[in-house]
Amino acid sequence: CGIVGYIGFRDAYPIVIKGLHRLEYRGYDSAGIALADKGLKVYKKAGKVSDLENFVKDVNLAGTAGMGHTRWATHGAPSDRNSHPHSSGDRKLTIIHNGIIENYSVLKEALSAKGHTFKSDTDTEVLIHLVEDIQKTTGLDLQESVRLALNRVVGAYAIVIMSADNPDELIAARKGSPMVIGVGRGEYFIASDATPIVEYTKNVIYLNDNEIAYVKRDGLLIKNIDNTIQTPYIQELSLKL
Ligand code: GLU
Repeated sequence: CGIVGYIGFRDAYPIVIKGLHRLEYRGYDSAGIALADKGLKVYKKAGKVSDLENFVKDVNLAGTAGMGHTRWATHGAPSDRNSHPHSSGDRKLTIIHNGIIENYSVLKEALSAKGHTFKSDTDTEVLIHLVEDIQKTTGLDLQESVRLALNRVVGAYAIVIMSADNPDELIAARKGSPMVIGVGRGEYFIASDATPIVEYTKNVIYLNDNEIAYVKRDGLLIKNIDNTIQTPYIQELSLKL
């Protein structure tokens, strides 16, 4: 339902939580975050963003790259384990997702037959296992594995993926669900609409359908899922809060 991501030089947690609050107007049943700081830290909870804040109040929330999600359940009841982020079997990859992976049950069956076990009832978890599976069977890098996985997905999505092995990059993609990238100096903001971004920067890129953004602190690369490089079009937000 709601997506916020940050990579830069500030602590990601306060920016992500504030962004999730700004997206609460959309309605949701659960919330979760991932932070990159010597590995990935993932915390998620059914309930309100404030319940998540309570849940993490005693843990180390360091990290200058992170993402958060508010979920509106479509596949799997609202619960802690069905909340996003969802991680790969080896816990090295984690994903947040808005939308629906329509062919998830076919993919899930094929992955189960290859030994994948799932911790949730969501369509989303299947996608991150698919990325993991492609990466392990082909030996390709994460960027390319995500692109190949998205080529096998039927449905609508806005996603952000983080990796323990590539903690200095967020991978965002969309098809049929909105995704905005705020461009700062040495920092980027990602969100499902502009409301979490406006207070930090007016310069935004609206991702188009079938585009993947590989976002690092010092720059971003946008590709179409057919592997053609896209020229980012940065526009100025006129939105006022
Ligand atoms: N289909 C996913 C789920 O049920 C994402 C729902 C959403 O857009 O929040 O977990």
